[in-house]
Amino acid sequence: MLSATEKIVFALMAAATALAFLAPLTLRYRIIRAGRSGPRRTGLGRRLGATLGKVLLQRCTLKNERRFTGVMHVFIFYGALTFDTMTVNHALEGFFDGFFLFGQTGFGLLFSLVVDVFAVLVLAGTLFFIVRRFIVRPEAYRTTRLDSALIYAFLIAVTLSYLYFEAYAIALHPETARLSFLGSALADRIAASGSSAAAVIGHFKTSWWLHILLVFGFISYVPHSKYLHMLAGPFNVLLRPERRCGELEALALETSDRFGVEKSADFSWKDNLDAFACMECGRCQDVCPAFISEKPLSPKMLLFKQERRLLAERKLLLAKKGDEGAPLMPGTFEEGEVWSCTTCGACMHVCPVEIEHIAKIVGLRRSRVLMESKFPAELNATFRNMETNSNPWGIGFADRAAWTEDLGIPLIKDEPETDWLYYVGCAGSFDETGKTTSAALASLLKRAGLAFAVLGPEEKCCGDSARRLGNEYLFQQLAAENLAAFLRYGVKRIVTACPHGFNLLKHEYPRLMDTLSAFSEEDKAALRAIEVVHHTELLARLLREGRLKVASSGIEDLTYHDPCYLARHNGITEAPREVLSRLARGGLRKLDRSGEHGFCCGAGGGLMWTEESLGTRVNHLRTDEVLASGAMTVATACPFCKTMLADGLKDKGRTDVAVMDVAQLLAERTA
Ligand code: SF4
Ligand code: SF4
Repeated sequence: MLSATEKIVFALMAAATALAFLAPLTLRYRIIRAGRSGPRRTGLGRRLGATLGKVLLQRCTLKNERRFTGVMHVFIFYGALTFDTMTVNHALEGFFDGFFLFGQTGFGLLFSLVVDVFAVLVLAGTLFFIVRRFIVRPEAYRTTRLDSALIYAFLIAVTLSYLYFEAYAIALHPETARLSFLGSALADRIAASGSSAAAVIGHFKTSWWLHILLVFGFISYVPHSKYLHMLAGPFNVLLRPERRCGELEALALETSDRFGVEKSADFSWKDNLDAFACMECGRCQDVCPAFISEKPLSPKMLLFKQERRLLAERKLLLAKKGDEGAPLMPGTFEEGEVWSCTTCGACMHVCPVEIEHIAKIVGLRRSRVLMESKFPAELNATFRNMETNSNPWGIGFADRAAWTEDLGIPLIKDEPETDWLYYVGCAGSFDETGKTTSAALASLLKRAGLAFAVLGPEEKCCGDSARRLGNEYLFQQLAAENLAAFLRYGVKRIVTACPHGFNLLKHEYPRLMDTLSAFSEEDKAALRAIEVVHHTELLARLLREGRLKVASSGIEDLTYHDPCYLARHNGITEAPREVLSRLARGGLRKLDRSGEHGFCCGAGGGLMWTEESLGTRVNHLRTDEVLASGAMTVATACPFCKTMLADGLKDKGRTDVAVMDVAQLLAERTA
């Protein structure tokens, strides 16, 4: 079809497009490579299989709250794959008249149908996004409007130009129609219009060039736009760290003298890949308790600003002179932003491309705390209390087991052969409401006949708040002391009623040991072998085994609030419900957001110890959901959630609604 001159023009255009595509792509690749190194990725074959499963089945976009939007994205995703294939065919058609990639095969027939079907679906999906972004205008979509407009314009223009070409291709070669129902219908109209053969040939050529020009334009634009997520997103999923949602990388305190993220150069290569993989869909922002409660934090904008900053400092980063760049705070990120995150993990849970927001926020906090000593003033006392008395309240460490007086709970030093260590945690040891949970759990363990003991004054704060507030040094100190105590008594099994302690003891202490030189490999193996369970798991098991028996049930209007560190960070949603289902009359009332989609109480990430002076209080928002459910009793399984919900109900004058731990409710009704 193309003349010799046209073929040369086409080849030059293709080369220019490749250059326009690869140059910005290479720049971004080099910026990613310039990031701080991290652990090597292993198991690439397994990762590849999982990634293909997620991407090809589009589980990444269909997994979360925006199901309908996800379906529209599926239309565009598969439409893009189909049209990418068709573009190859289209280019070859220019060289070989009547060329068809799949020949006269059954698959070829089917493919001709699929292309037309996706032409319709891509147009429908794009129109949906246009209406949503420019007419409905939800908060999550209010960035890069020009970029979005250009992408939508390209999607529509490429699809329509293809149909324009297809119609004239069929008008010229009716035998190539196959199952192209749209092209055939349009070709029929062309035939009915009485166009001359020369006019049909003219349109055929014009439409071919128009489609090619639009496709080349789109390809050149992709690396500059959020559409880059088509490439970077799958790589981000493929190369995600093995750690669980929200789990933090241990800092090598003994071998490094620079901690956290102060400048762009301090981001890891994976942080940089995250920034380029973000599709700016705003799902993270929609579910972020900080954003919803009007704090100056949007996880989406965090990534957006990081990407802009990386590109702005590209010369310094590529020249390995990132140290000469300006600090990220203030300027790119602000204090209110960094100190508003509860590390609830909701953002990461919904992100289609598995971006790690928490690692970046804690990285910024680490730099503020460990390098610059700039953090909310109220944390001075919190850190000091943890250092001196190993609890954030600052109550004398010697009183850690005071709550056990008169309860007949042994200290492990007196019963080192015991089966279970009950790791009580700071709230369970010192806070009045936490102590009621501890007493209830201890009475249940006794009734079930379990041999258990507590560490008492030898127990230290687990260090969760310190770690998530950026004080990794304090965290590692506390963790090492706890680990030494576990080792001292040869602990084999631990139960705890605090999801934060549970999360650390189960997942983060074992990983921390990779960096600790104080323990021998044998000791580390023994410590890693410790079984750690949350009390709701153990109670559900004891009920199932008949070691605990419910004597009276019938709690009316009961609901359950999922703690983030239990449900989202650890996937434990059924065990507490299994216990409560034996106690509730007529089933549990469901909160609007529950299970892995639950809404934070506002205390995580160490924010229990900071003043919530900006926006609405997060616990008030959650309390409103509890009240809207009509529940008169709200159960939970975390001492911090219990306090936050009780405070919320008190602030709203609803002390008639009770907040109790699952263990308390069960203890009241167990023989
Ligand atoms: S971080 Fe993830 S969820 Fe948030 S806007 Fe980017 S892609 Fe969407
Ligand atoms: S972890 Fe929670 S509070 Fe922090 S940015 Fe993500 S959604 Fe927001």
